[in-house]
Amino acid sequence: MDKKDMLYEGKAKRVYKTEDKDVFIVEYKDDATAFNGIKKGTITGKGIINNKMSALMFKMLEENGIPTHFVELINDRESLVKGVEILPLEVIVRNIAAGSFSKRYGVEEGILLPFPTVEFSYKNDDLGDPLINDSHALALGLATEEQIELIKTYALKINQLMQKYFLERNIKLIDFKLEFGLFKGEVILADEISPDTCRFWDKDTNEKLDKDRFRRDLGNVEDAYQEIMNRLNK
Ligand code: UDP
Repeated sequence: MDKKDMLYEGKAKRVYKTEDKDVFIVEYKDDATAFNGIKKGTITGKGIINNKMSALMFKMLEENGIPTHFVELINDRESLVKGVEILPLEVIVRNIAAGSFSKRYGVEEGILLPFPTVEFSYKNDDLGDPLINDSHALALGLATEEQIELIKTYALKINQLMQKYFLERNIKLIDFKLEFGLFKGEVILADEISPDTCRFWDKDTNEKLDKDRFRRDLGNVEDAYQEIMNRLNK
């Protein structure tokens, strides 16, 4: 399958059409941004790791009954995916307080939440992806009631599957962001699952092994991405 016109260029990926209208090619870049694009940089090799890791995660989830956009890996940086229309919702699942949750609600980072907590943001760069609730999502016409319920069910199931998968690799899954899309009218998991979109802490030391190393200038950013990949390949 060959790349045709570029459909979209985001902060970390480019999406291309192919000769098949139902199939797109995603190309993962090394570009990194944080704080809604204010901080910019490069994480060398990140595109390769995020492409391969997303492939592994989507395969694992598909095997466990979650429909995803993933079709196959093409090469180090590119994957074939089903061409979805992305729902403008960022779905965040949290197991342990961190990041914006800690800041917004005054909860110390690292505190275990009593249950996995789902939140939505309105995916809109101009507005800075504001936090919204189900009612807002419905009122804004971002998804239907049925789609919102299904997305929450999928998100919690994905959390269970990923938490187990990472714990077996000595990694705590703190939180992560998902995006869903519509393919022939059905809600399926899309976007990526990588250290860009998840918080991973080493189970024994709580060392951060994710994009927070870039956001917070903690150093050893590339090493952290590689460490996660090494543990997945074991
Ligand atoms: N996240 C993401 N993209 C975003 C916002 C958040 O992938 O635009 C991920 C982030 O990596 C983390 C989780 O979602 O794993 C929760 O992020 P949070 O709301 O704490 O935001 P942050 O602290 O990154 O601003």
